[in-house]
Amino acid sequence: MGTFTKILLSAACVAFLAVKWNAPRFDPESLRGARVLVTGASAGIGEQIAYHYAKFGAQIVITARREKVLQKVVEKCLSLGAQKALYVAADMASETEPDRALDFAVENLGGLDYLVLNHIGPSPFSMWEGDVEHTRWLMKVNFFSYAQMAWRALASLEQSNGALVIVSSLLGKMPSPFAVPYTSTKFALNGFFGALHHELVMKKSNVSISICTLGLIDTDAAMDKVRDFTNVPAYPAAAAALNIIITGATRQPELFYPWFIHIVTLSKDWFPFITDYVIQNSYSYTP
Ligand code: NAP
Repeated sequence: MGTFTKILLSAACVAFLAVKWNAPRFDPESLRGARVLVTGASAGIGEQIAYHYAKFGAQIVITARREKVLQKVVEKCLSLGAQKALYVAADMASETEPDRALDFAVENLGGLDYLVLNHIGPSPFSMWEGDVEHTRWLMKVNFFSYAQMAWRALASLEQSNGALVIVSSLLGKMPSPFAVPYTSTKFALNGFFGALHHELVMKKSNVSISICTLGLIDTDAAMDKVRDFTNVPAYPAAAAALNIIITGATRQPELFYPWFIHIVTLSKDWFPFITDYVIQNSYSYTP
């Protein structure tokens, strides 16, 4: 190995260790009794987020549309150790229900420490055939309800030195085929909450914003969609959920899970042609 390569590798190791050393430490005790609202918690990653908070002894309100499923998740949260677990059924496509769900949580928990925005509406995994109506509806569910709930939660979060946690996607940073409406909603989220983060810092607000960028995660909904299109490896929902919670609790502005998708997002601007080639060849499609 040449001297230059050795120096480069040593510098990379030192930089890695420095970043790890300075990373804020997670104290699980900080979540005991924490007042949390998790959206999209009847299934998938949101359900796993609820179970982790429950094990940490938090007080949780969960929301989604299916009341019977929410009831079961609440029962499991209580059996896992949640100090309190309640649900409120709400459709995030509605103009009023996001506010109702937020108010329910604040009233029943006596305030709010964490708002975890995670829900997504179902959207087909297929080429876009001009369905603007679906795209408009999905924007309401995946984007406008996030903006609405975040704004309504700010006063409570200011009082508690609280945190906003936004669950986003690699597709919110790298446009990909078969998910045109979904990709648009996630780009909108990243833009909105990235800009809001600057404004909160400039206003010296004590509310943190964490944007969590996830790669493919093995939820039933995601696997059902992509199974016939790609062999890209999927990562476990429970681990993704825990990383999301730790990122919010340590008030870090960003999470990339799995970690290497951070490199993927950086290399997209450095090597656009290679990135385009890899994206288009990661999916099987015969015109
Ligand atoms: P999921 O399994 O499809 O769960 C979606 C949740 O949203 C469910 O609880 C669903 O419950 C709820 N929901 C759907 N439509 C709703 C509506 N109109 N109003 C209120 N709630 C609604 O999703 P997931 O795979 O866990 O994804 C969770 C988050 O991770 C999303 O933000 C997603 O973008 C992100 N993510 C996931 C992956 C992945 O590969 N899984 C990758 C990157 C990012 P109801 O049907 O009961 O309403």
